[in-house]
Amino acid sequence: MSAEIHEFQVEARQLLQLMIHSIYSNKDVFLRELVSNASDALDKLRLEALRDDALDADVSDLHIALDADAQARTLTVRDNGVGMSRDEVVSLIGTIASSGTARLLQELKDTKDADAAAGLIGQFGVGFYSAFMVADEVTVVTRRAGESQGTRWTSRGEGTYTVEAADDAPQGTAVTLHLKPADAENQLHDYTDSWKLREIVKRYSDFITWPIRMPAHATTAADPGGDSAGEGAESGPAALETVNSMKALWARSREEVTDEEYHELYKHLAHDWLDPAETILLRAEGTFEYQALLFIPSHAPHDLFTRDQRRGLQLYVKRVHIMDDCEELLPPYLRFVKGVVDAQDLSLNVSREILQQDRQIQMIHRRLTKKVLSTLKDLMTSAPDRYATVWREFGRALKEGLLSDFDNRDTLLSLCSFASTHDADEPTTLAQYVERMKEGQEEIYYLTGDSREAVENSPHMEAFRAKGIEVLLLTDSVDEVWVTAVPAFDGKQLRSVAKGEVDLDAGEQDKQTVSDRENQQKEYTDLLSWMTGELTQDVKEVRLSTRLIVSPACLVSDTYDITPALETMYRAMGQDVPHTKRILELNPGHPLVSSLNKAHTERNGDPDDSGLGDIAELLYGMALIAEGGALKDPARFAKLMADRLTV
Ligand code: ADP
Ligand code: MG
Repeated sequence: MSAEIHEFQVEARQLLQLMIHSIYSNKDVFLRELVSNASDALDKLRLEALRDDALDADVSDLHIALDADAQARTLTVRDNGVGMSRDEVVSLIGTIASSGTARLLQELKDTKDADAAAGLIGQFGVGFYSAFMVADEVTVVTRRAGESQGTRWTSRGEGTYTVEAADDAPQGTAVTLHLKPADAENQLHDYTDSWKLREIVKRYSDFITWPIRMPAHATTAADPGGDSAGEGAESGPAALETVNSMKALWARSREEVTDEEYHELYKHLAHDWLDPAETILLRAEGTFEYQALLFIPSHAPHDLFTRDQRRGLQLYVKRVHIMDDCEELLPPYLRFVKGVVDAQDLSLNVSREILQQDRQIQMIHRRLTKKVLSTLKDLMTSAPDRYATVWREFGRALKEGLLSDFDNRDTLLSLCSFASTHDADEPTTLAQYVERMKEGQEEIYYLTGDSREAVENSPHMEAFRAKGIEVLLLTDSVDEVWVTAVPAFDGKQLRSVAKGEVDLDAGEQDKQTVSDRENQQKEYTDLLSWMTGELTQDVKEVRLSTRLIVSPACLVSDTYDITPALETMYRAMGQDVPHTKRILELNPGHPLVSSLNKAHTERNGDPDDSGLGDIAELLYGMALIAEGGALKDPARFAKLMADRLTV
């Protein structure tokens, strides 16, 4: 097969350009990325070999090797792992699958701040491309375990790459970098210098559980860090030694490990370039022993809310990597948590089916969930700023837990923080809300909707605003759902200001207001029953409102009815829900309403008077528009309006 020239996918090309023009100042991390990929490839091969007896692959001495040539100015990172087929090379290296890439690229272009840009680029997980920060040409020679034909991939990172057959390629992958000249000013070190390479490996990849080998140093015959790989050394010209300690960080006590070491493990596991927001170490001893090292990332992946997002922790059994994305260890609403669980008593060839049933796994699941939530709770008080970031990134996912995790509902509620009418910028917790509740206020008020602006300006808020009563502004779509499932916090009912009857004066009513109300009710009885009949297609009742101050009318749901937003959501999910009619509330203090009542009384309910019927319809339409709803027949509404406005 002759060499074929391919073009990089557009997004991939743009990312490469960013890499080459080095928006990331710490160039050393390229090695962390290549070693991380090699380590993943070894994990994958080990798993495949375990599952498939017939796989024609050599798993006897899985390792990573670094090979530098100062004369040729090349560095090769080699592994004898799973390798890639020709098609895999093209799809995995030539394209970026991530759906959020285009948006992130745009953000990057808009960012002038170098630190922010470096942060953003960390979100791509552009591991392999980081090679182009230090190399002007990269060659990959790879052979998929079990296949006979190898592939050579070469690129200068400038829009195209070539792919050709490579005969005699050993199993696994060798990535060779043709290094750019060292340039201290740009933090571009001499990556053929074996001291430098050791330093980088120690710093970023020490915990990798596979040996990383380099030619032994003449001056370090007795290498203090690693065990010499004698068997590998005999055949080659130079003796090889292992330069990483391969020690599992989760098996070491917290005092022995620096935060930086934890963070590097996180970056390898999560394919992230940014430090995590929090590290959690947990050890269970006794009859059922396990260790867990968990991380809460500092930013959400762009696919946190897509259905095919990979989630789960890495499962190890007695230091041996058994499974990626083990979903059974944490509930779906904690899918953003990354990390490792190493259990002592599971079988090495445990399957997913077994895991789902396993009592020990269920115990770990419960314990880890509680631990993550209590860590978040602590973070709330110990580092409120960091907590605010975590909530901003993952709050929407955590709120899903209010629907599914009954055991931890109270903790989850205490973690929640919401926008509120109390402060334009600062969100509030429920506890803080309760503390501020007015004397006599029994319930926690909220309003759901699409945006803060829409919710804040809704007619439903009028009486609450006038009385200075705080209302939570819930604008995530998940809010619509969990509020129906959570009855109360701290003994206080959660209550929508757009549902049921609201009577903010109930506590302070004197005899006078009571009798005023009763008179008003009498005065409007005829109008209300006539209008209920007129609008029967659209509403189940027309009644007087106590929640309106300036608007003539608004629509409310009955206390236990589902809201229109929820109805729409269920429909979108393909569920057949009946249409629920709402209640139209009129503001007797509004001249439009009082004059309508007057006109209606004067005409003595003449059933043929279509003029009043039009006004009833207009009132309903206005109430719908005011809350951001859509009219069934906008053209008709416009016509009725035009007729009325004609002078
Ligand atoms: P990520 O590691 O986050 O998936 P990378 O850009 O580092 O992203 O790598 C892209 C993909 O290329 C990997 O997911 C893997 O499938 C493949 N790959 C990279 N390096 C190797 C390797 N040494 N062996 C096998 N596959 C590799
Ligand atoms: Mg990678």
